[in-house]
Amino acid sequence: MTISLGLFLFKFLSGSYGWLDYGFLALTLVLFVMFFFLVDALYRVSNIESEKAQVDGMLASMHDALIAYDKDFKITLVNESLEILCNIKKEDVLGKKITPEWNNFEKYALLAKIVFPSLAPEMTRMSDNRGPSRVMIKMFKPKEYILEIVTSKVQNLYDRSFGFVKIIKDRTRENQLLKTKSDFITVAAHQLRTPLTGITWAVEVLYKKELGEINTVQEKTLKQSLDALTEMSLTIDELLKAASIEDGKFDYTFAMADIIEIINEVLKALTVKATQKNIKFVFYPPEFKVPKFVMDRDKIKTLITNLVDNAIKYNVTNGEVRIKIQQIVDKPFIKISIEDTGIGMDTVDKEKVFDKFYRSPSVLKSHTSGIGLGLYISKNIVQNHGGQIWVDSIEKRGSMFNFVLPVDHNYIPPQMKSSKNNL
Ligand code: ADP
Repeated sequence: MTISLGLFLFKFLSGSYGWLDYGFLALTLVLFVMFFFLVDALYRVSNIESEKAQVDGMLASMHDALIAYDKDFKITLVNESLEILCNIKKEDVLGKKITPEWNNFEKYALLAKIVFPSLAPEMTRMSDNRGPSRVMIKMFKPKEYILEIVTSKVQNLYDRSFGFVKIIKDRTRENQLLKTKSDFITVAAHQLRTPLTGITWAVEVLYKKELGEINTVQEKTLKQSLDALTEMSLTIDELLKAASIEDGKFDYTFAMADIIEIINEVLKALTVKATQKNIKFVFYPPEFKVPKFVMDRDKIKTLITNLVDNAIKYNVTNGEVRIKIQQIVDKPFIKISIEDTGIGMDTVDKEKVFDKFYRSPSVLKSHTSGIGLGLYISKNIVQNHGGQIWVDSIEKRGSMFNFVLPVDHNYIPPQMKSSKNNL
């Protein structure tokens, strides 16, 4: 082609060309264009190959297992982590249609449960209908597995689904470690509780003068001991609650209840404590009719007790604790605020107060009671009701803890809707 082009140019320049040479030129140009397209196509193919190699490399090196299949459940892709997790070879499954019956074959039982999570002995849905579906599955035979599976639809430009991709995170070891830790806390807390009950009983008998008269100094000392024992018993309760949150055993029982009634009960129970610091409770009358709604009554009472108790504990003498209930406009939620006139907190504290075992450095010396679990438990309670909790605070001026809760039970997270709760 280059020779013929050169020949034509030579003839053209030397003036000795004829009509045959024009044909020659046309042919040369066609060949040239074809050559150009061929080179371009080869370039594109090599680009696609290298991109595919990159994607394959990424999938192979992914720590999480991955499987993709088309709308007919024909497996189109598995990565190395999935081969290891399910102990299978990709050549044995690629191109094959997976069905629930695969669960009957020991070799493919785990893969079948990944593709059809409802086949697992335990399955917890962790997402609502928006976005990719997230489920946690648990199985115990032949080995214990706890897997988190995220499933996304693969869609083409016209939004016609043509398959699914699943990413599987193996949470087994993580869960075993958490379990060992919370088992330790549970055993230790239970071991402490038994002698504590015995000591409390003995001190109470003395304090109530059931074993004979005591003088005022003895009475005061015994009262202080009783208060310290009550504090210790509350700490043990918090440890047990935090351990059961970790274990996923902090069980919820939902039913209709009255939030105003709960707030009044909490304020009544904490009146003596508030009076000791001359703190006044101000419960603003709500400006709307507060409906009864579905909740775990005991848990919500624990939540409000934690917040009001903190508002007293971290308040100044002669301070105030103000409680307000508001309606959220256009949404089926109510907001409850518990405000104090106490020590407040800085920006770092505001970010960390809901973390497990966090206590502000500024309270470690001044307020020795407490282990930093109350707000961690409170956040768990609010979230498991489908709500949110946050704090506004100014140092040395006071804090306002706010939480919102849905008054429509459809907003309670799907994983809380066990058959026990009839939601
Ligand atoms: P605890 O009170 O047992 O330490 P919490 O989880 O209830 O545990 O609170 C964690 C930390 O948050 C507290 O140690 C304190 O530093 C801070 N905090 C909580 N409530 C208030 C409040 N009302 N005002 C100022 N700081 C607070």
